[in-house]
Order: sequence, then C-alpha cells, then structure tokens
Amino acid sequence: MCINPAWYPYESYSDGEHQGMISDYLRLIMKNVGIRYRLIPSTTWRETLLMAKSGKCDLIAGAMQTVQRSSYLEFSKPYLSIPAVVATKPQNSAMQLNDKRIGVIARSAFHDILSNRYPEADFIIVDNYLDALRMLKSGQIDAVAGADASLTYLLKEQQISDITISDVLHDSWDISVAVTKNQPYLLGIMNKSIERITPKEHEQINNRWMTVEYKHTVDYRIIWWLLMAVGVVSVFALYRYLRMSAYNKMLKRIAEKDALTGILSRHKLRSELEGFIDLADRHDWRLSLIFFDIDDFKLVNDQYGHAVGDRVLIELSRLVVDGSRKTDRFGRWGGEEFLFLMLETDLTSAHQIAEKIRQKISEHNFSISHLVTCSFGVAEYEKGESIEQLVNRADRALYISKQTGKNKVEDSLP
Ligand code: GH3
Ligand code: MG
Ligand code: MG
Repeated sequence: MCINPAWYPYESYSDGEHQGMISDYLRLIMKNVGIRYRLIPSTTWRETLLMAKSGKCDLIAGAMQTVQRSSYLEFSKPYLSIPAVVATKPQNSAMQLNDKRIGVIARSAFHDILSNRYPEADFIIVDNYLDALRMLKSGQIDAVAGADASLTYLLKEQQISDITISDVLHDSWDISVAVTKNQPYLLGIMNKSIERITPKEHEQINNRWMTVEYKHTVDYRIIWWLLMAVGVVSVFALYRYLRMSAYNKMLKRIAEKDALTGILSRHKLRSELEGFIDLADRHDWRLSLIFFDIDDFKLVNDQYGHAVGDRVLIELSRLVVDGSRKTDRFGRWGGEEFLFLMLETDLTSAHQIAEKIRQKISEHNFSISHLVTCSFGVAEYEKGESIEQLVNRADRALYISKQTGKNKVEDSLP
C-alpha cells in the first residue's frame, strides 16, 4: 500500500509509521476485510501515484477519483470527505482565482479539477504544502489550493501568520481507497467494509485527528525581544520620571523663592500664612505678622540707579533673615514691601520684634549716603479672619506709620 507521505492530519509517514485519519480508516477497513497490508513509503504524492502506476504497490490508502487516474486505478466508495480551501494573504481572501497564480500539489486531484474550472489561471506545481505556503508568503504565488486541515495545521505548526484560509472553492475531496486494476474481488469486499463503518466510528476518527494537539514551541526570541522592549521602555519612563520630578522640584523652588533676594515669594508667603492660620486655629496659638515697606525708596533708585536699589533690597533681606528665628517666615510681598510671619507670638511681642528690625535696618550701613529706613504695620491674627483681612489690617497700620512720620512701628488694633 502506498500513501501520501505529507498530508497530515489526514495522513503522513512519520516515525516509520502511517499516521492520521486515513491510516485509522485503512486499519478499520482492512480489519473488516481480513487482509494484511504492508506500507511502501514514498517521499511525495507524485511518487506515490507513479509507484501505483508502475505496480510497485497494489493500492493507495486515500485518493480522489479523477478521470486521469481512472485509466490505471479503480476506486472504492468514498469513506472521507475533505473540505478544499484556498490559502491567501488576508487582503486577497475574497479574490477571484480566474487569472491568478495558484499553487497546487503535483498530481493532486485539485490540480485537475481547478485547471478545468479556471483555465486562465497559472498553476504552479509544488511537491508539498510547506513549499507552497513559503512561495505564497514571499509573493511568488497568489494562492494555495489544498486540504483544509493540512493547511491550517501547517500554518500553526510553522507559526506562519498573515495568511488566511477561505472556502471560496465550495468544494471537497471525496477520498476512496484506490486499487490497481484487475482486483475486482478486493474492491468489492472493501466497499462492503466501508459501508459498515458506523457514524460513531467516523466520529471517533475525526475527533482523534481533527482536535490536533499542536506542539507549543515557545519562541524564546520573541520573549526576549518583549522583555528587552519592556526594559527599554521602563528605563526610558524612569528617566523621564526622574527628569520630570527634578524639573518639578526646580519649578517649585523657583516659585517659592523671590528671584532677586532669595527670600520667600509672595506665593509661598501666602501658603505659609495659610498653614500658620491652620495651626493657630487648631492649637489656639497666637499668630502675628509684620508688614513693612522701605521709606522713600523711589529716591534711592532715582539717586543711585536701579542696580543700587536692588543691592539695598538684597542686603536688607539678608539683615532680616539673619535676625529671624527658625519658626519665623519672611518674604517679599511686592516691590519694596515685606511680610514677616511669627507663630506663637502675640501683638506685643510682634511689636517688639518689629521695633528691633526697624532699628537694625536704620542703623545698617548700606554704603550710600542716603539713610535707609522702613515703616512697619503689625497685626495679630483674630480667629475666623481671612488672609486678606489680616494682611489688610497690617497694611493699614503700615499706612498710618507712613502718614505719621515713617521709620516707625504701628499696631493694628482690632
Ligand atoms: P514710600 O515711603 O511712600 O514707600 O515711598 P516709596 O518711594 O518707597 O514708594 P513708592 O511706592 O512711590 O515707590 C516704590 C519704589 O520702589 C518704586 C520702584 O522703583 C521701587 N522698586 C520696587 N521694586 C524694585 C526692585 O525690585 N528693584 C528696585 N531697584 N527698585 C524697586
Ligand atoms: Mg516705599
Ligand atoms: Mg511701596
């Protein structure tokens, strides 16, 4: 008996044995007939047919009846029907085959059938499906006509993606046992045996081979590539994150500090004051602030220039910072206006601290003949008042000190 060596899962010759659905059918048919048979292996389907033709084997396990073959073979009743399909690139799954290049297995029944159906088509003869699929992938042909499960199996086993199977042929292979001529007795008993195959036996054979367990060959290269890609992306994300957080920290520092003097910005002063008011409310702490403004600063600028004015602002800031406590907050509210926040400090103590600052500034030598002084307004926080209300009260006290001679400290009385 000759077989098709490369038609898995229908049949194949592997590990020195006949395997697949057709092999199961043959075992069943021949058991009923009571004939022992021996396998004569071939390497291609073409060779199988040649061996049958030249009498090297007496029968072919599974073949479809065609006019050509009928000249040297006789066929049993069909015992198996195999859907015929076409494999194409996904974008061509619905194309007309009329004038296409179609890969077919040498001497396959479908070559005969399709060449009648599509006389314009260019049939490319191949020895096996694998070669055909490779040619399809590389674009040498447009389609491969063949048996459903075999093509599907190969696509999976070879991990060929981007190829689709479609049933545009609406056809199938009716598989029979082919017997060389002049063995009428053998054909007769085989037909009887085929008729006796029960639906359950058909189902068993089908289930055994059609739910093929595909070897799961893990492609570790893909895993490595994936891991590497994830790694690269992670490193890049981490780098971005670190850069962004450093950048954000820098922005925060910039926003919190006054660019000229390095003391707290107005923005930061506000949030510090908010925090202080929170603490004062919660712990019933006293909270006071000093608002002060350089006297006649316009004159300094006018007389010595803006750069000297800047230097005065910087030096003055340093003086106040040096005299402050750790818990105090000092910043620039605007132009030449400053705010000094003190927690756990009542109005009287705040007034004394303001007086000290006033003295320190007025006694400092700013290296200009002009005397630099400031006017001060002091206010103590009253429960329930807003930041604006508190600062306004201090501002009003400052205004009074400007109105009443400058270089002095005025308290805001509630
Ligand atoms: P008063 O005693 O009433 O406060 O008089 P003043 O001249 O200090 O007040 P005024 O508000 O009229 O002028 C403030 C001046 O402060 C005007 C502006 O040129 C100066 N000034 C504000 N910010 C800066 C700064 O960053 N650098 C310098 N050099 N000058 C500044
Ligand atoms: Mg001023
Ligand atoms: Mg001012």
